[in-house]
Amino acid sequence: MSRLKPLDIYNLLPKTNCKECGQDTCMAFTYLLINHEAELEQCKPILEPKHKKNYEKLKEMLTPPVRPVKFGEGEHEKTIGGEEVMRRHELTWFNPTVLAIAVHDEMNQNELTQQVDLITHWNTFYIGQNLYLDAIAIKCASGNPDKFAKAVKTVIDYTDWPIILCSTDPQCLKAAIKAAKGKKPLLYAATKDNWKEIGEIARTEKLPLVVSAPGDLNLLKSLAKSLFEAGVEQIALDPGTYWGEGLLSDTINNFTMLRRAAIEQGDKTVGWPLIGVPATIWIGKEDTPEGEQLATAFQETILAAILMMRYADLLIINSKQLWTFLPLVILKRNLYTDPRIHPAVEPELMAIGNPDQNSPVMVTTNFALTAYTVKSDLEQAKINAWLVILDTEGIGVESAAAGGQFNAGKVADTLQEFGVGDKVVHRAVIIPGMASRFKGEIEDLSGWDVYVGPRDSGAIADFLRDKYRAPTGLGYVGDPGGDSPVFLTTNNIQSYYLVKKPLLDAGASAWLLVVDTGGLDLESAVSEKKIDGAAVKKTMDESGAGDQISKKELIVPPALEPLKGDIESATGWTVKVVPPDKIPELVK
Ligand code: SF4
Repeated sequence: MSRLKPLDIYNLLPKTNCKECGQDTCMAFTYLLINHEAELEQCKPILEPKHKKNYEKLKEMLTPPVRPVKFGEGEHEKTIGGEEVMRRHELTWFNPTVLAIAVHDEMNQNELTQQVDLITHWNTFYIGQNLYLDAIAIKCASGNPDKFAKAVKTVIDYTDWPIILCSTDPQCLKAAIKAAKGKKPLLYAATKDNWKEIGEIARTEKLPLVVSAPGDLNLLKSLAKSLFEAGVEQIALDPGTYWGEGLLSDTINNFTMLRRAAIEQGDKTVGWPLIGVPATIWIGKEDTPEGEQLATAFQETILAAILMMRYADLLIINSKQLWTFLPLVILKRNLYTDPRIHPAVEPELMAIGNPDQNSPVMVTTNFALTAYTVKSDLEQAKINAWLVILDTEGIGVESAAAGGQFNAGKVADTLQEFGVGDKVVHRAVIIPGMASRFKGEIEDLSGWDVYVGPRDSGAIADFLRDKYRAPTGLGYVGDPGGDSPVFLTTNNIQSYYLVKKPLLDAGASAWLLVVDTGGLDLESAVSEKKIDGAAVKKTMDESGAGDQISKKELIVPPALEPLKGDIESATGWTVKVVPPDKIPELVK
């Protein structure tokens, strides 16, 4: 099927730009229609008798080869099918596979409500989204219409989630439909033995109906055709779900052939959503020993995952083990993200934990997976930090660094735009290891010192503990000469910027002699004897400070006052104690 052309749709709309559909123009509405984001009937003028012909043409053109089928009501309404392509990357898959968990009417009220509670509340957080299951399949195991209706009532009294009524007995289905009035359930199922009666129920109640012909595609096709001709407007197909040698490949082939016939061969009789029932794997195994049940749950999950990748639009699952839901909801999320759009989060300055003016500043990209992974790694390590989420058009660090979406100018502009300098008293920004090549350019453009963090944010806690240090030796701000002042500090980030920041703010030119204290701040370094005259002398000698600087005077913060005599005798330089708040005055 060739993709719809916007102009072909637009030309059939009233083209009055009346805005009744909520869009400013008919062309804007056209794009929503093409992307399945609006219903044609939202354009009221097209429903007028004078546009009848165009409406019918549009309806035909906009109906995808796999027709969409809806069940459930209100905010929990689900659409299954509605697909246009075999392979997701050719466009996108629009309507995520509905995961329905089975309960049955032989459960007592307590069991039933407990199961429904578990099904409707279970969720997992993944790339910024809570992922949930979707629907409840209520099976008539008793064969008793009253019992089935009672179970249905118990479920709908507990939740407004969409339901699937599972019985091949017309009387049981009738009783359940009555109990579920107004809930628009999906009926499962019409078979070769009951299709006339159940078809009539679906037609008169205007409910969507699953047709089931396990292992017999010709029968399935013939039943679907007969039911549609008999007036059932919403149909789904169950070609049978089997596990075991040879059977699994037959199951996959059947799903694939049906979808191919609908999309590639335009066979309308099978242009309906596909239903997989991995729950069948449990038949006769409900009361087996625990180990066997575990194996069955495992097989059911694998089967469900395979069918999800092979076009199942709805899956009925029996397992209530929470671990079985996890791979399915995540697989679904990944299959049904739109490949045309990078999953992105809004660029922002994110406060992780309770950051303050001394907390580290880190940069990452707005690719959703990266942003949430970094956030989660920081939170798990209980790190208070400022996280700058850069707009890289939703592209991850490595690709964005290669493709130009992560660049030095953008980092510098974003630090400025988010006012990060007002949040902290230092000027240290940590960039991802994979963007290390931008270090120098970012420093030149932003005036911030760049620290290259780990390639994997899982190592950020180790990095902060062991490697987040100011550079030791002889550094500088501005353009100092031989007689410029020399300030002594340690490689602890806080102590370093205690001295450097006032110099930067004053626009001064000065030297910084930075002693390696293993990251200890001034006070701790003094009390733990990590800094003394000998350490200062060693740093001077190794950095060649004595050769470059003629004014033999060290300016030290008050915390180093107790070492004044020791430093003077070890270095031969004089020591002057100046509090940080007096630095601007000193260098004026
Ligand atoms: S309601 Fe119909 S005619 Fe009016 S702007 Fe929307 S698409 Fe165009």
